[in-house]
Amino acid sequence: MSTMNAITVLIDGDAPAVRPYALMRDRVLPSLERRREEIERMYAPVMGRPETDPVLLMAATVLQIMQRLPDRACAEACLYDARWRFALGDMPPFHPTTLVHFRNRLAENGKARLSLEACLESMRDAGYLKSCRAVRIDSTHLLARIADMSRLECVRETLRLALDFLARFGGVAAWEPWSGRYADRNPEELRKASAERLAARMDEAGADMRDVLEKADALGEAVAGAEPVALLRRVFGEQFELRDGAPAQRRASEAGAAVNPHDPEAQWSTKKTLGKAGWRGYKAQVCESVEDATCAKGEPTKAVVTAVLVQPATGSDHGSVPGILAEHQSAVGAESPPPDEVFADAGYVSAPALLKAEAGGYALTGPMPAPPHSGKRFGSDSFAVDIPGRVAVCPAGHASSECDRIDDAKHAQYGAKYYFAWPAKTCAACPLREQCVSKKSKLARRTLEVSEHHMTVQVRRALCKTPEYRSRMRKRNAVEGTHSELVRGYGLRRCRYKGRSKTGLQAQFTATACNLRRWARRLCWEERKMT
Ligand code: SF4
Repeated sequence: MSTMNAITVLIDGDAPAVRPYALMRDRVLPSLERRREEIERMYAPVMGRPETDPVLLMAATVLQIMQRLPDRACAEACLYDARWRFALGDMPPFHPTTLVHFRNRLAENGKARLSLEACLESMRDAGYLKSCRAVRIDSTHLLARIADMSRLECVRETLRLALDFLARFGGVAAWEPWSGRYADRNPEELRKASAERLAARMDEAGADMRDVLEKADALGEAVAGAEPVALLRRVFGEQFELRDGAPAQRRASEAGAAVNPHDPEAQWSTKKTLGKAGWRGYKAQVCESVEDATCAKGEPTKAVVTAVLVQPATGSDHGSVPGILAEHQSAVGAESPPPDEVFADAGYVSAPALLKAEAGGYALTGPMPAPPHSGKRFGSDSFAVDIPGRVAVCPAGHASSECDRIDDAKHAQYGAKYYFAWPAKTCAACPLREQCVSKKSKLARRTLEVSEHHMTVQVRRALCKTPEYRSRMRKRNAVEGTHSELVRGYGLRRCRYKGRSKTGLQAQFTATACNLRRWARRLCWEERKMT
Protein backbone atom coordinates (compact mmCIF):
# COMPACT_ATOMS: atom_id res chain seq x y z
CA MET A 1 0.00 0.00 0.00
CA SER A 2 1.42 3.40 -0.96
CA THR A 3 1.75 6.25 1.51
CA MET A 4 -1.07 8.03 -0.31
CA ASN A 5 -3.41 5.07 0.09
CA ALA A 6 -2.65 4.90 3.78
CA ILE A 7 -3.59 8.59 4.11
CA THR A 8 -6.77 8.18 2.09
CA VAL A 9 -7.99 5.54 4.52
CA LEU A 10 -7.38 7.83 7.49
CA ILE A 11 -9.10 10.92 6.09
CA ASP A 12 -12.86 11.32 5.85
CA GLY A 13 -13.50 13.69 2.94
CA ASP A 14 -17.03 14.38 4.18
CA ALA A 15 -15.87 15.73 7.54
CA PRO A 16 -16.49 19.50 7.73
CA ALA A 17 -12.80 20.24 8.44
CA VAL A 18 -11.71 18.24 5.38
CA ARG A 19 -14.51 19.26 2.99
CA PRO A 20 -12.62 22.25 1.44
CA TYR A 21 -9.70 19.90 0.71
CA ALA A 22 -12.05 17.34 -0.81
CA LEU A 23 -13.55 20.04 -3.04
CA MET A 24 -10.06 21.09 -4.05
CA ARG A 25 -9.19 17.51 -5.02
CA ASP A 26 -12.44 16.53 -6.70
CA ARG A 27 -13.60 19.80 -8.26
CA VAL A 28 -11.03 22.60 -8.45
CA LEU A 29 -7.95 20.53 -9.35
CA PRO A 30 -9.61 18.96 -12.43
CA SER A 31 -10.62 22.47 -13.49
CA LEU A 32 -7.04 23.69 -13.01
CA GLU A 33 -5.85 20.64 -14.94
CA ARG A 34 -7.94 21.83 -17.92
CA ARG A 35 -5.87 25.06 -17.78
CA ARG A 36 -2.55 23.20 -17.71
CA GLU A 37 -1.59 24.32 -21.19
CA GLU A 38 -2.21 27.95 -20.28
CA ILE A 39 -0.25 27.58 -17.03
CA GLU A 40 2.67 25.83 -18.73
CA ARG A 41 2.87 28.60 -21.31
CA MET A 42 4.48 30.68 -18.56
CA TYR A 43 7.58 28.50 -18.86
CA ALA A 44 10.10 28.41 -21.70
CA PRO A 45 9.35 25.48 -24.08
CA VAL A 46 12.80 23.84 -23.80
CA MET A 47 14.83 25.32 -20.97
CA GLY A 48 13.36 26.19 -17.57
CA ARG A 49 10.74 23.46 -17.36
CA PRO A 50 9.14 23.44 -13.91
CA GLU A 51 10.57 20.92 -11.47
CA THR A 52 7.38 21.01 -9.40
CA ASP A 53 4.05 20.63 -11.17
CA PRO A 54 2.72 24.22 -11.61
CA VAL A 55 -0.91 23.03 -11.43
CA LEU A 56 -0.22 21.59 -7.98
CA LEU A 57 1.67 24.76 -7.01
CA MET A 58 -1.41 26.78 -7.96
CA ALA A 59 -3.63 24.56 -5.81
CA ALA A 60 -1.09 24.65 -2.95
CA THR A 61 -1.07 28.48 -3.06
CA VAL A 62 -4.87 28.53 -2.66
CA LEU A 63 -4.57 26.28 0.41
CA GLN A 64 -1.68 28.42 1.68
CA ILE A 65 -3.86 31.55 1.61
CA MET A 66 -6.77 29.61 3.08
CA GLN A 67 -4.64 28.68 6.08
CA ARG A 68 -2.66 31.96 6.09
CA LEU A 69 0.68 30.12 6.01
CA PRO A 70 4.11 31.52 5.11
CA ASP A 71 5.96 29.86 2.21
CA ARG A 72 8.08 27.59 4.40
CA ALA A 73 5.06 26.26 6.31
CA CYS A 74 3.23 25.77 2.99
CA ALA A 75 6.07 23.64 1.59
CA GLU A 76 6.03 21.56 4.81
CA ALA A 77 2.24 21.20 4.80
CA CYS A 78 2.42 19.73 1.27
CA LEU A 79 4.62 17.00 2.73
CA TYR A 80 3.31 16.43 6.24
CA ASP A 81 -0.30 17.65 6.51
CA ALA A 82 -2.66 14.77 5.84
CA ARG A 83 -5.46 17.07 4.57
CA TRP A 84 -3.08 18.74 2.09
CA ARG A 85 -1.86 15.38 0.85
CA PHE A 86 -5.47 14.24 0.59
CA ALA A 87 -6.13 17.26 -1.66
CA LEU A 88 -2.89 17.42 -3.65
CA GLY A 89 -1.67 13.81 -3.64
CA ASP A 90 1.98 12.82 -3.38
CA MET A 91 3.65 16.11 -4.17
CA PRO A 92 7.44 15.89 -4.33
CA PRO A 93 9.25 18.07 -1.76
CA PHE A 94 10.12 21.55 -2.98
CA HIS A 95 12.04 24.52 -1.65
CA PRO A 96 9.87 27.40 -0.30
CA THR A 97 11.41 29.82 -2.83
CA THR A 98 9.71 27.76 -5.58
CA LEU A 99 6.51 29.50 -4.48
CA VAL A 100 8.18 32.92 -4.80
CA HIS A 101 9.32 32.17 -8.37
CA PHE A 102 5.92 30.73 -9.21
CA ARG A 103 4.11 33.87 -8.01
CA ASN A 104 6.54 36.08 -9.93
CA ARG A 105 5.77 34.09 -13.07
CA LEU A 106 2.01 34.41 -12.52
CA ALA A 107 2.27 38.18 -11.97
CA GLU A 108 4.61 38.72 -14.96
CA ASN A 109 2.37 36.70 -17.28
CA GLY A 110 -0.89 38.25 -16.06
CA LYS A 111 -2.28 34.88 -14.94
CA ALA A 112 -3.45 36.08 -11.53
CA ARG A 113 -7.09 35.23 -12.20
CA LEU A 114 -6.55 31.57 -13.17
CA SER A 115 -7.26 30.07 -9.74
CA LEU A 116 -10.50 32.06 -9.29
CA GLU A 117 -11.62 31.23 -12.83
CA ALA A 118 -11.01 27.53 -12.18
CA CYS A 119 -12.87 27.68 -8.88
CA LEU A 120 -15.89 29.45 -10.41
CA GLU A 121 -15.93 27.00 -13.33
CA SER A 122 -15.94 24.03 -10.97
CA MET A 123 -18.76 25.62 -8.94
CA ARG A 124 -20.77 26.15 -12.10
CA ASP A 125 -20.12 22.59 -13.35
CA ALA A 126 -21.26 21.23 -10.00
CA GLY A 127 -24.48 23.24 -10.28
CA TYR A 128 -23.59 25.28 -7.21
CA LEU A 129 -23.05 28.61 -8.98
CA LYS A 130 -26.06 29.59 -11.01
CA SER A 131 -26.05 32.61 -13.31
CA CYS A 132 -25.16 35.84 -11.49
CA ARG A 133 -28.03 38.11 -12.56
CA ALA A 134 -27.38 40.42 -9.60
CA VAL A 135 -24.08 41.34 -7.94
CA ARG A 136 -23.02 43.65 -5.15
CA ILE A 137 -19.77 45.59 -5.06
CA ASP A 138 -17.82 47.56 -2.50
CA SER A 139 -14.22 48.55 -1.86
CA THR A 140 -11.89 48.10 1.08
CA HIS A 141 -8.41 49.44 1.81
CA LEU A 142 -5.26 47.29 1.71
CA LEU A 143 -2.17 48.14 3.76
CA ALA A 144 1.05 47.84 1.75
CA ARG A 145 3.94 45.77 3.08
CA ILE A 146 6.06 48.83 3.77
CA ALA A 147 7.16 50.94 6.72
CA ASP A 148 5.58 54.35 7.25
CA MET A 149 8.09 56.98 6.16
CA SER A 150 8.17 60.74 6.48
CA ARG A 151 8.72 62.71 3.28
CA LEU A 152 12.38 63.23 4.21
CA GLU A 153 12.88 59.51 4.92
CA CYS A 154 11.27 58.63 1.59
CA VAL A 155 13.52 61.07 -0.29
CA ARG A 156 16.70 59.88 1.51
CA GLU A 157 15.86 56.18 1.00
CA THR A 158 15.16 56.77 -2.71
CA LEU A 159 18.56 58.47 -3.01
CA ARG A 160 20.25 55.60 -1.16
CA LEU A 161 18.72 52.98 -3.49
CA ALA A 162 19.63 55.00 -6.61
CA LEU A 163 23.22 55.51 -5.39
CA ASP A 164 23.54 51.77 -4.63
CA PHE A 165 22.69 51.14 -8.27
CA LEU A 166 24.83 53.98 -9.66
CA ALA A 167 27.91 52.71 -7.75
CA ARG A 168 28.20 50.15 -10.60
CA PHE A 169 29.31 53.04 -12.81
CA GLY A 170 32.70 54.17 -11.49
CA GLY A 171 32.44 52.69 -7.97
CA VAL A 172 31.20 54.26 -4.73
CA ALA A 173 33.98 56.90 -4.80
CA ALA A 174 32.63 58.33 -8.07
CA TRP A 175 29.36 59.16 -6.30
CA GLU A 176 30.77 60.94 -3.26
CA PRO A 177 29.83 62.92 -1.23
CA TRP A 178 26.28 61.58 -1.83
CA SER A 179 27.07 57.90 -1.23
CA GLY A 180 28.45 58.65 2.24
CA ARG A 181 25.72 61.16 3.05
CA TYR A 182 22.86 58.73 2.32
CA ALA A 183 24.46 55.41 3.30
CA ASP A 184 22.64 55.38 6.66
CA ARG A 185 18.91 54.95 6.12
CA ASN A 186 17.98 56.24 9.57
CA PRO A 187 20.81 58.45 10.93
CA GLU A 188 20.90 59.21 14.66
CA GLU A 189 21.16 62.98 14.05
CA LEU A 190 17.74 63.08 12.31
CA ARG A 191 15.79 61.03 14.87
CA LYS A 192 15.15 63.94 17.23
CA ALA A 193 16.08 66.86 15.01
CA SER A 194 14.26 70.20 15.16
CA ALA A 195 11.82 71.21 12.42
CA GLU A 196 14.37 73.72 11.04
CA ARG A 197 17.08 71.07 10.84
CA LEU A 198 14.75 68.64 9.09
CA ALA A 199 13.72 71.36 6.61
CA ALA A 200 17.40 72.12 5.92
CA ARG A 201 18.09 68.41 5.35
CA MET A 202 15.14 68.22 2.96
CA ASP A 203 16.49 71.18 0.94
CA GLU A 204 19.91 69.55 0.89
CA ALA A 205 18.38 66.26 -0.32
CA GLY A 206 16.50 68.14 -3.07
CA ALA A 207 19.73 69.73 -4.35
CA ASP A 208 21.52 66.36 -4.13
CA MET A 209 18.73 64.64 -6.06
CA ARG A 210 19.02 67.18 -8.87
CA ASP A 211 22.84 66.81 -9.01
CA VAL A 212 22.73 62.99 -8.93
CA LEU A 213 20.13 63.00 -11.74
CA GLU A 214 22.28 65.33 -13.85
CA LYS A 215 25.31 63.07 -13.43
CA ALA A 216 23.26 59.90 -14.10
CA ASP A 217 21.72 61.45 -17.25
CA ALA A 218 25.22 62.20 -18.57
CA LEU A 219 25.96 58.44 -18.50
CA GLY A 220 23.50 57.75 -21.29
CA GLU A 221 19.94 56.66 -21.85
CA ALA A 222 20.35 53.17 -20.40
CA VAL A 223 21.42 54.56 -17.00
CA ALA A 224 18.99 57.49 -17.07
CA GLY A 225 16.10 55.12 -17.79
CA ALA A 226 17.08 52.41 -15.28
CA GLU A 227 14.44 51.70 -12.63
CA PRO A 228 16.19 53.22 -9.56
CA VAL A 229 17.07 56.38 -11.52
CA ALA A 230 13.55 56.67 -12.94
CA LEU A 231 12.19 56.35 -9.41
CA LEU A 232 14.61 59.04 -8.22
CA ARG A 233 13.35 61.33 -10.96
CA ARG A 234 9.74 60.59 -10.05
CA VAL A 235 10.21 61.25 -6.31
CA PHE A 236 12.15 64.45 -7.09
CA GLY A 237 9.23 65.69 -9.21
CA GLU A 238 6.68 64.71 -6.56
CA GLN A 239 8.48 66.29 -3.61
CA PHE A 240 10.26 69.33 -5.09
CA GLU A 241 9.61 72.18 -7.46
CA LEU A 242 12.06 74.66 -8.92
CA ARG A 243 11.88 78.11 -7.35
CA ASP A 244 14.38 80.67 -8.70
CA GLY A 245 16.24 77.80 -10.35
CA ALA A 246 16.77 75.89 -7.08
CA PRO A 247 14.81 72.82 -5.87
CA ALA A 248 12.43 73.72 -3.04
CA GLN A 249 10.16 71.38 -1.13
CA ARG A 250 6.52 71.41 -2.27
CA ARG A 251 4.00 72.42 0.38
CA ALA A 252 2.41 68.98 0.09
CA SER A 253 3.30 65.86 -1.86
CA GLU A 254 1.37 65.40 -5.06
CA ALA A 255 -1.69 63.11 -4.96
CA GLY A 256 -0.59 59.56 -5.69
CA ALA A 257 3.06 60.30 -4.76
CA ALA A 258 5.34 57.41 -3.81
CA VAL A 259 5.35 56.97 -0.01
CA ASN A 260 8.13 54.39 0.21
CA PRO A 261 10.61 53.56 -2.57
CA HIS A 262 10.43 49.85 -1.70
CA ASP A 263 6.86 49.77 -3.07
CA PRO A 264 6.51 52.87 -5.26
CA GLU A 265 3.04 51.86 -6.44
CA ALA A 266 1.63 52.12 -2.91
CA GLN A 267 -0.07 55.47 -2.29
CA TRP A 268 -1.43 57.40 0.65
CA SER A 269 -5.16 57.90 0.77
CA THR A 270 -7.85 58.37 3.36
CA LYS A 271 -11.53 57.89 3.99
CA LYS A 272 -14.04 58.94 6.63
CA THR A 273 -13.44 55.99 8.97
CA LEU A 274 -9.64 56.37 8.93
CA GLY A 275 -9.44 60.13 9.39
CA LYS A 276 -6.31 62.15 8.71
CA ALA A 277 -3.93 59.23 9.27
CA GLY A 278 -5.39 57.44 6.22
CA TRP A 279 -3.58 54.39 4.88
CA ARG A 280 -0.67 53.58 2.61
CA GLY A 281 -1.28 50.89 0.04
CA TYR A 282 -4.04 49.96 -2.38
CA LYS A 283 -7.78 49.57 -2.68
CA ALA A 284 -9.61 46.32 -3.45
CA GLN A 285 -12.95 46.30 -5.25
CA VAL A 286 -14.89 43.19 -4.28
CA CYS A 287 -17.77 41.82 -6.35
CA GLU A 288 -20.01 38.94 -5.24
CA SER A 289 -23.19 37.28 -6.44
CA VAL A 290 -26.54 38.12 -4.84
CA GLU A 291 -29.13 35.45 -4.13
CA ASP A 292 -32.84 36.21 -4.42
CA ALA A 293 -33.73 34.65 -1.09
CA THR A 294 -32.22 35.95 2.14
CA CYS A 295 -30.46 33.44 4.40
CA ALA A 296 -32.25 32.17 7.51
CA LYS A 297 -30.51 32.49 10.86
CA GLY A 298 -27.51 30.13 10.99
CA GLU A 299 -27.71 29.37 7.27
CA PRO A 300 -24.33 29.79 5.53
CA THR A 301 -24.28 32.24 2.64
CA LYS A 302 -24.60 30.98 -0.91
CA ALA A 303 -23.01 34.13 -2.30
CA VAL A 304 -19.84 33.63 -4.34
CA VAL A 305 -17.00 36.13 -4.69
CA THR A 306 -16.71 36.56 -8.45
CA ALA A 307 -14.06 39.29 -8.76
CA VAL A 308 -11.51 41.23 -6.75
CA LEU A 309 -9.86 44.15 -8.49
CA VAL A 310 -6.86 45.84 -6.88
CA GLN A 311 -6.71 49.56 -7.70
CA PRO A 312 -4.44 52.45 -6.69
CA ALA A 313 -5.41 53.77 -3.24
CA THR A 314 -6.32 57.16 -4.70
CA GLY A 315 -8.67 55.66 -7.30
CA SER A 316 -12.28 56.62 -6.61
CA ASP A 317 -15.18 54.17 -6.41
CA HIS A 318 -17.12 56.48 -8.63
CA GLY A 319 -16.71 55.25 -12.20
CA SER A 320 -15.25 51.87 -11.16
CA VAL A 321 -18.37 49.83 -11.88
CA PRO A 322 -17.67 49.06 -15.60
CA GLY A 323 -14.12 47.89 -14.71
CA ILE A 324 -15.36 45.60 -11.93
CA LEU A 325 -18.11 44.18 -14.12
CA ALA A 326 -15.56 43.45 -16.88
CA GLU A 327 -13.41 41.62 -14.30
CA HIS A 328 -16.48 39.72 -13.08
CA GLN A 329 -17.43 38.69 -16.61
CA SER A 330 -13.92 37.44 -17.42
CA ALA A 331 -13.90 35.36 -14.24
CA VAL A 332 -17.35 33.78 -14.60
CA GLY A 333 -16.92 33.19 -18.34
CA ALA A 334 -18.68 34.45 -21.44
CA GLU A 335 -21.33 31.71 -21.18
CA SER A 336 -22.72 33.31 -18.03
CA PRO A 337 -25.04 36.25 -18.90
CA PRO A 338 -23.92 39.66 -17.59
CA PRO A 339 -25.61 40.98 -14.41
CA ASP A 340 -28.91 42.86 -14.73
CA GLU A 341 -28.50 44.64 -11.42
CA VAL A 342 -25.54 45.97 -9.45
CA PHE A 343 -25.95 46.89 -5.77
CA ALA A 344 -23.51 49.53 -4.52
CA ASP A 345 -23.24 52.30 -1.92
CA ALA A 346 -23.41 56.06 -2.47
CA GLY A 347 -19.71 56.20 -3.46
CA TYR A 348 -20.53 54.50 -6.79
CA VAL A 349 -23.74 56.32 -7.63
CA SER A 350 -23.79 59.53 -9.64
CA ALA A 351 -25.66 60.81 -12.68
CA PRO A 352 -22.87 59.77 -15.15
CA ALA A 353 -22.72 56.32 -13.47
CA LEU A 354 -26.51 55.90 -13.82
CA LEU A 355 -26.35 56.89 -17.48
CA LYS A 356 -23.45 54.47 -18.04
CA ALA A 357 -25.46 51.72 -16.35
CA GLU A 358 -28.43 52.43 -18.60
CA ALA A 359 -26.20 52.30 -21.67
CA GLY A 360 -24.54 49.11 -20.36
CA GLY A 361 -27.90 47.37 -19.90
CA TYR A 362 -27.85 46.99 -16.10
CA ALA A 363 -29.51 48.78 -13.20
CA LEU A 364 -27.24 50.46 -10.69
CA THR A 365 -29.08 50.19 -7.38
CA GLY A 366 -27.71 52.47 -4.70
CA PRO A 367 -28.39 55.70 -2.86
CA MET A 368 -27.55 59.04 -4.43
CA PRO A 369 -25.21 61.08 -2.17
CA ALA A 370 -26.83 64.04 -0.43
CA PRO A 371 -26.30 67.43 -2.14
CA PRO A 372 -23.79 69.95 -0.72
CA HIS A 373 -24.96 72.03 2.28
CA SER A 374 -27.55 69.36 3.05
CA GLY A 375 -28.73 69.72 6.68
CA LYS A 376 -27.30 73.26 7.02
CA ARG A 377 -29.32 75.16 4.43
CA PHE A 378 -31.53 74.35 1.48
CA GLY A 379 -29.60 72.05 -0.85
CA SER A 380 -30.29 71.60 -4.55
CA ASP A 381 -32.88 68.92 -3.72
CA SER A 382 -35.11 71.59 -2.09
CA PHE A 383 -35.55 73.36 -5.45
CA ALA A 384 -37.84 72.24 -8.28
CA VAL A 385 -35.52 72.37 -11.27
CA ASP A 386 -36.66 72.00 -14.88
CA ILE A 387 -33.53 71.86 -17.05
CA PRO A 388 -35.24 71.77 -20.52
CA GLY A 389 -37.53 74.63 -19.42
CA ARG A 390 -34.53 76.45 -17.88
CA VAL A 391 -36.42 77.34 -14.77
CA ALA A 392 -35.99 76.58 -11.06
CA VAL A 393 -38.51 77.25 -8.31
CA CYS A 394 -37.13 77.92 -4.81
CA PRO A 395 -38.67 76.57 -1.54
CA ALA A 396 -40.55 79.88 -1.15
CA GLY A 397 -42.18 79.31 -4.55
CA HIS A 398 -40.31 81.96 -6.55
CA ALA A 399 -39.17 81.06 -10.05
CA SER A 400 -35.58 82.04 -10.87
CA SER A 401 -35.09 85.09 -13.02
CA GLU A 402 -31.69 84.11 -14.45
CA CYS A 403 -30.38 80.88 -15.96
CA ASP A 404 -26.94 80.47 -17.54
CA ARG A 405 -25.46 77.37 -19.13
CA ILE A 406 -21.75 76.78 -18.43
CA ASP A 407 -19.73 74.27 -20.48
CA ASP A 408 -16.77 73.16 -18.40
CA ALA A 409 -14.33 71.38 -20.74
CA LYS A 410 -12.18 70.34 -17.74
CA HIS A 411 -15.03 68.32 -16.20
CA ALA A 412 -16.80 67.34 -19.42
CA GLN A 413 -17.71 63.89 -18.00
CA TYR A 414 -20.15 65.57 -15.60
CA GLY A 415 -21.89 67.44 -18.43
CA ALA A 416 -22.79 71.12 -18.70
CA LYS A 417 -23.69 73.16 -15.60
CA TYR A 418 -26.76 75.34 -15.17
CA TYR A 419 -26.54 78.39 -12.98
CA PHE A 420 -29.76 79.90 -11.53
CA ALA A 421 -30.11 83.07 -9.45
CA TRP A 422 -32.92 84.83 -7.59
CA PRO A 423 -33.25 88.64 -7.29
CA ALA A 424 -31.62 90.16 -4.20
CA LYS A 425 -34.82 92.11 -3.46
CA THR A 426 -36.92 88.91 -3.33
CA CYS A 427 -34.40 87.12 -1.10
CA ALA A 428 -34.06 90.14 1.25
CA ALA A 429 -37.78 90.05 1.97
CA CYS A 430 -38.03 86.25 2.22
CA PRO A 431 -38.87 84.63 5.61
CA LEU A 432 -36.80 81.57 4.60
CA ARG A 433 -33.69 83.63 3.95
CA GLU A 434 -31.81 82.30 7.01
CA GLN A 435 -32.21 78.69 5.78
CA CYS A 436 -31.38 79.56 2.20
CA VAL A 437 -28.71 82.23 1.65
CA SER A 438 -25.20 81.49 2.89
CA LYS A 439 -24.04 83.76 5.70
CA LYS A 440 -20.49 83.56 4.36
CA SER A 441 -21.53 84.57 0.87
CA LYS A 442 -21.07 88.19 -0.08
CA LEU A 443 -24.06 87.88 -2.40
CA ALA A 444 -27.32 89.05 -0.85
CA ARG A 445 -29.25 86.49 -2.88
CA ARG A 446 -29.44 82.78 -3.50
CA THR A 447 -27.73 81.14 -6.43
CA LEU A 448 -27.90 77.49 -7.49
CA GLU A 449 -25.58 75.48 -9.69
CA VAL A 450 -26.71 72.06 -10.94
CA SER A 451 -25.48 69.68 -13.60
CA GLU A 452 -27.42 68.93 -16.75
CA HIS A 453 -28.22 65.51 -15.22
CA HIS A 454 -29.79 67.06 -12.15
CA MET A 455 -33.26 65.73 -12.93
CA THR A 456 -31.92 62.13 -13.13
CA VAL A 457 -30.32 62.72 -9.72
CA GLN A 458 -33.60 64.03 -8.28
CA VAL A 459 -35.54 61.02 -9.54
CA ARG A 460 -33.06 58.69 -7.79
CA ARG A 461 -33.18 60.71 -4.56
CA ALA A 462 -36.96 60.49 -4.52
CA LEU A 463 -36.79 56.74 -5.22
CA CYS A 464 -34.34 56.21 -2.34
CA LYS A 465 -36.97 57.51 0.11
CA THR A 466 -39.52 54.79 -0.75
CA PRO A 467 -39.78 51.81 1.68
CA GLU A 468 -39.58 49.29 -1.21
CA TYR A 469 -36.24 50.70 -2.36
CA ARG A 470 -34.86 50.79 1.17
CA SER A 471 -35.86 47.20 1.69
CA ARG A 472 -34.28 46.19 -1.65
CA MET A 473 -31.04 47.93 -0.68
CA ARG A 474 -30.61 45.39 2.18
CA LYS A 475 -29.21 43.03 -0.45
CA ARG A 476 -26.13 45.29 -0.66
CA ASN A 477 -25.32 45.15 3.05
CA ALA A 478 -23.98 41.58 3.01
CA VAL A 479 -20.88 42.77 1.13
CA GLU A 480 -19.68 44.35 4.39
CA GLY A 481 -19.70 40.87 5.94
CA THR A 482 -17.73 39.57 2.96
CA HIS A 483 -15.09 42.27 3.52
CA SER A 484 -14.88 41.24 7.14
CA GLU A 485 -14.51 37.58 6.14
CA LEU A 486 -11.76 38.34 3.61
CA VAL A 487 -9.92 40.58 6.06
CA ARG A 488 -10.28 38.56 9.27
CA GLY A 489 -10.36 35.07 7.82
CA TYR A 490 -7.75 35.37 5.09
CA GLY A 491 -5.66 38.43 5.98
CA LEU A 492 -6.60 40.47 2.91
CA ARG A 493 -6.13 43.78 4.76
CA ARG A 494 -2.33 43.38 4.86
CA CYS A 495 -0.48 42.88 1.60
CA ARG A 496 1.69 39.77 1.72
CA TYR A 497 3.80 40.97 -1.21
CA LYS A 498 5.09 44.24 -2.64
CA GLY A 499 3.67 45.84 -5.77
CA ARG A 500 0.18 46.10 -7.18
CA SER A 501 0.35 43.10 -9.50
CA LYS A 502 1.40 40.72 -6.70
CA THR A 503 -1.17 42.24 -4.37
CA GLY A 504 -3.70 41.48 -7.11
CA LEU A 505 -2.43 37.90 -7.07
CA GLN A 506 -3.00 37.69 -3.32
CA ALA A 507 -6.52 39.07 -3.78
CA GLN A 508 -7.39 36.46 -6.43
CA PHE A 509 -6.11 33.57 -4.31
CA THR A 510 -7.95 34.99 -1.30
CA ALA A 511 -11.23 35.09 -3.23
CA THR A 512 -10.66 31.48 -4.36
CA ALA A 513 -9.91 30.31 -0.80
CA CYS A 514 -12.98 32.15 0.53
CA ASN A 515 -15.23 30.56 -2.13
CA LEU A 516 -13.85 27.10 -1.41
CA ARG A 517 -14.58 27.42 2.32
CA ARG A 518 -18.03 28.92 1.72
CA TRP A 519 -18.87 26.13 -0.70
CA ALA A 520 -17.74 23.46 1.77
CA ARG A 521 -19.67 25.10 4.63
CA ARG A 522 -22.81 25.29 2.54
CA LEU A 523 -22.59 21.64 1.41
CA CYS A 524 -22.11 20.44 4.98
CA TRP A 525 -25.07 22.54 6.13
CA GLU A 526 -27.31 21.21 3.33
CA GLU A 527 -26.36 17.62 4.18
CA ARG A 528 -27.07 18.20 7.86
CA LYS A 529 -30.42 19.68 6.97
CA MET A 530 -31.39 16.64 4.92
CA THR A 531 -30.61 14.15 7.70
S1 SF4 B 1 -34.02 83.24 0.04
FE1 SF4 B 1 -34.52 83.70 -2.06
S2 SF4 B 1 -34.19 81.77 -3.15
FE2 SF4 B 1 -34.25 81.31 -0.98
S3 SF4 B 1 -36.31 80.67 -0.56
FE3 SF4 B 1 -36.22 82.86 -0.17
S4 SF4 B 1 -36.73 83.85 -2.10
FE4 SF4 B 1 -36.33 81.74 -2.54
